[in-house]
Amino acid sequence: MEYQAWKFADIAGTPLGKRLWAFLCDRENVIRMETAVDLGKPAAEAVARVLVESFGDDVRPDRVKQMIGHMIRQIMEANGFQLDSQNIPVRQDRRLFTKASRYRTGEGRTTRAGYINRNNQLNHGATGESGTDHNALAYELECLKCRKRYKANGTDVFQRKCPFCQGGAPGL
Ligand SMILES: [Zn+2]
Repeated sequence: MEYQAWKFADIAGTPLGKRLWAFLCDRENVIRMETAVDLGKPAAEAVARVLVESFGDDVRPDRVKQMIGHMIRQIMEANGFQLDSQNIPVRQDRRLFTKASRYRTGEGRTTRAGYINRNNQLNHGATGESGTDHNALAYELECLKCRKRYKANGTDVFQRKCPFCQGGAPGL
């Protein structure tokens, strides 16, 4: 995926800008930001600590922080999230951002084939059967750790753990 830098084109093209984009796109950091969504926290708050650890004072200038927020928005939207609200106060010990945007899960995101939740469970799509929830469909999930497959309710996909190797509830 490529960053559409627009007004940040000047710094996005620098070695720092390129490193930041690769860093934020890294799967581990995307998972951190997805977890922030589940907790109702701004996405940037979830990566502030690792940004400071990896980049030091290079990420402190206001314009760099604004570009990070702009990058995060593109990454979140590419992963099926939508902007929920902006200028949410950020609380943490190592303060990098004072305000940041919060995101919410986009419509139908977790039930799409190809979706991988934060526990590394891959959704292969609807099985064509009903789940056990009221009017929910059953979906076939695959654990990317042990490669076993099982069925789950659509409403549980986002947080499902593998019944075989993560102690999750048995499949349907
Ligand atoms: Zn497993």
